[in-house]
Amino acid sequence: MRLSRKKQPGGQAGWAGQAGSQSSKPGQAGSRASQSGGATQSGQSTSPAQSAQSSPAPQPEGRKPLISGNWKMNLNHLQAIQLIQQLAYALEPDDYTQVEVSIHPPFTDLRAAQTLLDVDRIPIALGAQDCHQEDSGAFTGEVSAGMLAALDVKYVIVGHSERRQLFGETDEVVAAKLKAVLRHQMVPILAVGETMSERLEGTTQDKVASQLASVLKGLPRDQRESLVVAYEPIWAIGTGRSATPQDAEEVCAFIRAQLGQMWGEATANQVRIQYGGSVKPIGIADLMAQPNIDGALVGGASIEAADFARIVRYRFEG
Ligand code: PEP
Repeated sequence: MRLSRKKQPGGQAGWAGQAGSQSSKPGQAGSRASQSGGATQSGQSTSPAQSAQSSPAPQPEGRKPLISGNWKMNLNHLQAIQLIQQLAYALEPDDYTQVEVSIHPPFTDLRAAQTLLDVDRIPIALGAQDCHQEDSGAFTGEVSAGMLAALDVKYVIVGHSERRQLFGETDEVVAAKLKAVLRHQMVPILAVGETMSERLEGTTQDKVASQLASVLKGLPRDQRESLVVAYEPIWAIGTGRSATPQDAEEVCAFIRAQLGQMWGEATANQVRIQYGGSVKPIGIADLMAQPNIDGALVGGASIEAADFARIVRYRFEG
């Protein structure tokens, strides 16, 4: 695989180049989450027991905006390389200073993506779309959190509505996955959101509150601030029909208030909350201007380099 060298935003290698968080919203910038815990630089996994005892919790990033691309089941590893290279050329060093960017390719692309990001020193964080809740065992076809950590994955989406609806994942399963992600010192992006009928019935807040309470119950104090919550109304995912900035803000503010009730306001104010659901370059600036929206989880538009780059560079969108 021939990998081209190009500009090195921040001039630093790997995760170190991503650590300079600058919060544009309340909260402090932190350093990068610990180096893909559960795995050494040489890719050797530590045992779950070792990880739990010796590895620190992920460091919170503060409220630095996080724009994440969920590629879903699209693009093979060769296409992934092409898309990452296009994206790297489209983004400027200052974009990474202003915004944290993560991509969530299919599992089969992760190794190629990791190599490219590392060799070309592209400060885009690697993410995954899911993981299994157990660390190993007879779970044919599944991928564990430890395996992802060994690939320098930083963020793992848990509880995406497609996983809940198409694969029957309950809040209990999502809670176990969230714990597995944290056990391996990665950061969960917890997706929550209501169906259209729940919205029409006026039960959006009940649904979201119950998802948060079930999944986050008992989360240790040191693992709270690094959490990312993605508010994704199910009716907006893949439909081309985004929530209005006002509707999205209302639910994101509610999510923060719920976290405040569970953990206290100071902690809730550190948690990043993304909006997801048919996010496109048009409209992203208005969404990002909302006080409780700290980023976006982007599906369809994230596999078009030009569109995703415009979303990352939302500060230049009209
Ligand atoms: C998603 O997959 O999380 C998503 C929000 O998809 P889309 O942007 O295509 O609606």
